[in-house]
Amino acid sequence: MWSKINFNDIALIPIWQKLQRGERLSLEDGLILYKTNDLISLGKMAQYVQRQKNGDAVYFVLNQKIEHTNVCVLSCKFCDFAKKKGEAGAYEMSTNDILSKITPEIKEVHITGGMPHDWQWERYLEIVSSIHQKFPDADVKAYTAIEIDFFHKKFKMSIEEVLRQLKEAGLKTMPGGGAEVFSERVRRLLFNQKVGEKVWLDVHKTAHRMGIPTNATMLYGHIETIEERLIHLIKLREAQDETSGFLTFIPLAFQPGETGIKPRNEYTSAIDDLKTIAISRLMLDNFPHIKAYWVMLTEEVAAVALNFGADDMDGTVGEEHIAHDAGALSPMKLAKENLIKIIKDAGKIPVERDVFYNPLKIHGENLIGKIPYLNSVPIYHYLNSEDFKILPVTPRRLGVLFKQGTVVAGLISLIDYFEQEENLELMKWCIAARDQVQSVVLFSKYEWKNLAGKTIGVIDDTSTSVKLLEVILKKKYGVTASLERMKPNNYQNYSAVILIGDEALKNLKQSISGFEFRYDLATEWFDWQKLPFVFAVFAVSKGLSQDLKNLIQHSIKESLTKGKNNLEVIGSNHGRTLGYTSKETKEYLEGFNYVLGEREREAIEVFRNIVGSK
Ligand code: SF4
Repeated sequence: MWSKINFNDIALIPIWQKLQRGERLSLEDGLILYKTNDLISLGKMAQYVQRQKNGDAVYFVLNQKIEHTNVCVLSCKFCDFAKKKGEAGAYEMSTNDILSKITPEIKEVHITGGMPHDWQWERYLEIVSSIHQKFPDADVKAYTAIEIDFFHKKFKMSIEEVLRQLKEAGLKTMPGGGAEVFSERVRRLLFNQKVGEKVWLDVHKTAHRMGIPTNATMLYGHIETIEERLIHLIKLREAQDETSGFLTFIPLAFQPGETGIKPRNEYTSAIDDLKTIAISRLMLDNFPHIKAYWVMLTEEVAAVALNFGADDMDGTVGEEHIAHDAGALSPMKLAKENLIKIIKDAGKIPVERDVFYNPLKIHGENLIGKIPYLNSVPIYHYLNSEDFKILPVTPRRLGVLFKQGTVVAGLISLIDYFEQEENLELMKWCIAARDQVQSVVLFSKYEWKNLAGKTIGVIDDTSTSVKLLEVILKKKYGVTASLERMKPNNYQNYSAVILIGDEALKNLKQSISGFEFRYDLATEWFDWQKLPFVFAVFAVSKGLSQDLKNLIQHSIKESLTKGKNNLEVIGSNHGRTLGYTSKETKEYLEGFNYVLGEREREAIEVFRNIVGSK
């Protein structure tokens, strides 16, 4: 069990205790972590947090990096890439050159480059829109905060307007480059022409508010101090508290090259790289993902980093980075197979993702599915058996993975269970709301009876909650409305939207403008049927060996018993990312019943009869 880390450095023990209590680490804690020689204990602590957040999943994406030009008006000291116009080696790619680099299998196109003085705004827009139109399955992640600020000044448009036009052209997310290290001292010495932390953070926070998620980076291993690294992390953490718009953090090891800042061969050490990954995971408690960027770290260090807090390996990056002889395999395929092997060898589950970290393909089997919402934390928090792997996945997707046999146990949405019950065996746990749930909510512009004939937006994450909504509309209120699958954050086009899980909790705190009414569907059900509502049940595949079933049964029982006794502690970190205090999180979790008792079974049958599933 995790609590059995054998610390060689006893200075780490109070930090470990803080982590187990879900408390946030301070700058002083970070300094102790950097100072320690007890690398294995540091890695285990980071892995503990990594597993709480992402189970055993390690993400990668089939991506193509495009550096559209190396011509740049700036001359940052550490930059070995930029050239002046006309200088030997300077290049500028046309839109056709860029499109010719992309193949249909690519899911993310990552665009950054120099900043030439003579490109027109339309050229940048055209790059994004052409990719978006020609390769609709490839999400465009483009232009760092430095470039966005350059466009804002050069083309005399506000940051919002620059981002609005890019978003309209097809921009989905922004990369995290250009942050370097948030230190005025370092900025003056190394990149005094570049914008500092304020502008970088303002651009990212603006993007987040406009529904454009972004990444964040830190360039380390040059002249910065350890304290400056930690301050950088804390400032990112504070920004994330405000907007929740960062997807992943990428520590970038400085490459000395010909910059003259450090001798050519003085790379960061593997120990420093691993420490920085692990400490990033521990300090950035509100960042969903930490990336081990294998191109810079080397494959070997990145592989170890997957057990030091990193859950993302970036991607295939594009053929120009593939150093191997491709043989019969295409470079892309080779890179993909290689990443899958590295991730599997690290004991993790390779998950091909899109730019938003939605899983597209899972390369694993016999997995335990974990619904990644706050409400399932009591079941999974202390589940740490080394005998199975845990995959975080939305309820709807979990149903599909159960059907495919990729997932063999987990909390399955009730409607999906009805469909597959011949092949499943129920265990005695569930997620049931007593009389209110708070995280399955209809946000509406109208009262129930006035929703007749209106269109309600439903997200793709859930089948049970959508069915419950249909039943309440039709059978409780006698209202007919159309339900339509919507994209996240596209609420204003609808008369009402149903949100579940963390998304519902977040919006309960922030409220959605114009949606005056909020209906808790568990409360609606309870007032109507005087029964709890069961959203999901814990099931295992019937074909699973009895030994594994027993192990899962025993592990969940232990985890839940411990979890229920520590509600305030286990959900506090997760709750904080949604704007909830530890007390509010505890109260929220107390509203659930996790044991499938008589009343829950009765509620399941009543619901089954109403929806007519059998
Ligand atoms: S802005 Fe970017 S491309 Fe231009 S010199 Fe600086 S680091 Fe190099």
